[in-house]
Amino acid sequence: MTDAGRGPSAPDRRRILLLVGAAGAGKGTQAEILSTELGLPHLASGNLFRAAVRDATPLGKLAQTYMERGDLVPDDVTIGMFMEQLALPGAERGAILDGFPRTVAQARALDETLARQGERISRVIYIEVPTEELVERLAVRYVCPTCGTPYHQLTDPPRVPGICDKDGTPLEQREDDRPEVVRARLSKQVPPMLEVIDHYDRAGIVSRVDGRQPIEAVTRAILEELGA
Ligand code: AMP
Repeated sequence: MTDAGRGPSAPDRRRILLLVGAAGAGKGTQAEILSTELGLPHLASGNLFRAAVRDATPLGKLAQTYMERGDLVPDDVTIGMFMEQLALPGAERGAILDGFPRTVAQARALDETLARQGERISRVIYIEVPTEELVERLAVRYVCPTCGTPYHQLTDPPRVPGICDKDGTPLEQREDDRPEVVRARLSKQVPPMLEVIDHYDRAGIVSRVDGRQPIEAVTRAILEELGA
């Protein structure tokens, strides 16, 4: 079947990008930069769900119970939310999807839904960082419990070790940044993420980018992969 009459044809097909990476890989940072550089909206599942909960929309009310339990929101709800976002005027040229698809089932459902309107994922950017480096990165992150300012022991330390520059409060490590908690979180998150990568590898549309580089170098590598 051709694309005729089934949505945008090849030359003006939208650019639908997936940004994939584990917690601490720098995905959020890159998503914001790429959104500006490419002029595409950044659609992050967690942010969209949190906004829906805050605004008490029907979607928010549905999502809330799952989120409070730390469970995934059902696939049909999640896919519906993204398709709604992709239908908004801001996404006419495409979008950067972040946090979705999180499982192969979601990836297949997304592919099928896009295919029904003559579209597909343009490229999957996988920001790769070894697990032990992710654990280290998060383990050196400290925050001020009073004003919330984050510090990084190596790249962005406070002037006086262990003390907030702004208000002199002793810095703390977030409970969920402790190495054993981070390892447990990653061991749940990484396997389904790798399955999603495998799924798109079969279609030959995954670009792997070394996330151990400085932020600007990661951005440059991604833009090169995208031919931008
Ligand atoms: P996050 O900020 O990405 O950790 O997402 C926060 C919460 O939103 C998760 O705990 C899930 O309840 C929900 N969520 C985010 N992404 C998805 C997804 N792809 N599928 C289902 N639920 C999701």
